[in-house]
Amino acid sequence: MSKRRVTYYYDPDVGAFTYGLTHPMKPQRMRATHELLIAYDMLPKMHVLRAKRASAETMTRFHTDEYVQFLSRVTPENAPQLSYSGTRFLVGEDNPAFDGVFEFCSISAGGSLAAAHRLMNGQTDIAINWAGGLHHAKKREASGFCYVNDIVLAILEMLRTVPRVLYIDIDCHHGDGVEEAFYTTNRVMTCSFHKFGEYFPGTGTLDDRGRGKGRGYAVNVPLKDGVTDEAYRSVFEPVIDKILDVFQPSAIVLQCGADSLSGDKLGCLNLTMQGHASCVQYIRKKNIPLMLLGGGGYTVKNVARTWTYETACALGIEDDIDLNMPWNEYFEWFGPRYRLEVPASNMEDMNLRDNSLNRVRETALRYLSELRPAPSVGLQDVPRESVGEHLGVGDAYEQGPLDDLDEKLARESPLPNIHAILPDPRAPGHTRFVYNLQEKAAQPADSDSEYDSDTSLARTRARSGPARHGKKRMSLLTGECFDVPRPPPEGYDLGCGHEPWPQSDIPAQGMKRRFFPSAARWEYALDRHLAERERAGMRNGRVDVGALMMNGGAVERARTAELGEEMDVDAEDD
Ligand SMILES: [Zn+2]
Repeated sequence: MSKRRVTYYYDPDVGAFTYGLTHPMKPQRMRATHELLIAYDMLPKMHVLRAKRASAETMTRFHTDEYVQFLSRVTPENAPQLSYSGTRFLVGEDNPAFDGVFEFCSISAGGSLAAAHRLMNGQTDIAINWAGGLHHAKKREASGFCYVNDIVLAILEMLRTVPRVLYIDIDCHHGDGVEEAFYTTNRVMTCSFHKFGEYFPGTGTLDDRGRGKGRGYAVNVPLKDGVTDEAYRSVFEPVIDKILDVFQPSAIVLQCGADSLSGDKLGCLNLTMQGHASCVQYIRKKNIPLMLLGGGGYTVKNVARTWTYETACALGIEDDIDLNMPWNEYFEWFGPRYRLEVPASNMEDMNLRDNSLNRVRETALRYLSELRPAPSVGLQDVPRESVGEHLGVGDAYEQGPLDDLDEKLARESPLPNIHAILPDPRAPGHTRFVYNLQEKAAQPADSDSEYDSDTSLARTRARSGPARHGKKRMSLLTGECFDVPRPPPEGYDLGCGHEPWPQSDIPAQGMKRRFFPSAARWEYALDRHLAERERAGMRNGRVDVGALMMNGGAVERARTAELGEEMDVDAEDD
């Protein structure tokens, strides 16, 4: 097997963050993967680097100033206040304001940005960041366990150097955040294979194909429950071949979300580890600069297995490693077989009923054949700081604010506090250069309703009439749709048993509201909270894994028992 130079980004801090004990997203899976890579002696075979963390300013290349500012300040304690009682930035249950959320995002995004740099400098053939791949994050809002879209940031970085980037997404969920960001450009082709039909995020039909210049450059392959390796491959390979033929990408970003594996807690497909990894193998063979990212994946031991195996695939040593696992820190997770494997289940492949998989494949291929060959781009025109404008979406699709609050946010930006994190704030709105079909697409239909995109979910909503309470969202956790409440016009009483805001913080009618007032009020509570956590074996907003290992996770268990919740550890059930 031919050799590739592989760079692997890992930050030892990443595994210690926690979304909450019962939350299915476990950053610990990156740590478990890393331990397996050590056990398999793969680290000496690649460049192992710890990336510089992404700054707030860097994040605003895609996200709005207001949202990044929010992320950099939010804590579990101040979240209700800073998110306007959950009506902005973090809505619903999917995205908790966990301790250290901004640091976690800066590690995830920092890895993908560093990977982009290194690939574009020609210093590596394959760059891996398992902490990245957070494909649902939106420009001004967290979504589906994702807060900062490291993928969009990395691709924007790559577009400074190369004319065309192909994004492939094999997560069980539609790669909506990335698709939306590049929906109107032909310099990024997005191709997502995902479960579709009463499933988060509700977008990604065959007919969601991009818009304007980007028409035809979004490819969606909607699947039904139970897809097997063989069926998946029968659509993945021809679609990818056709894309490579018509698009001729200069680089590829492959999001390896592992919730498409059989037995995933939130997924519903039936891929084995080998079937999932065959996508990596197939793309690697094409010999195009490649970034491998993580993504979803909620049966943690299987995520660690698969990303370990896929790292071996990147190195080209997958046939040389012993699938019987060597001893490692997490060895007991992998019993009773202790093997590097994720077998299929006997669930029925619903894609084979009614010939649906063949129809999906044929339609996707037909749409691709309608594209003219590879668009050209004058790279000398690419400005250093604003690739988004070069994509031609800055003016045409830049949207007006959503409502009064957004208008205020936009008008009051740059905010007093943002100077601290953004050394060079330009005119308000400077970050809003990429995409945004959101509100414009919806306006003609009904000015009272707000849609997120020109995609299937928006159309589904359009058919079912305007959303009475404003924005609609779907939860990845529950799979259910919910209305985002509008912020109350009279002010922001938290209305949840917490102390109401002091009168001075509530803007009087017609008065200019001070956005993000001083954090001083909750600092005492935060200090007390952190001190308690430290006593409980956690520190600095993170779980102290060392302490937990010393006492066998007893602290976590004690805390869990106190809360009356089940410890959410994957038990081997075969
Ligand atoms: Zn997913």
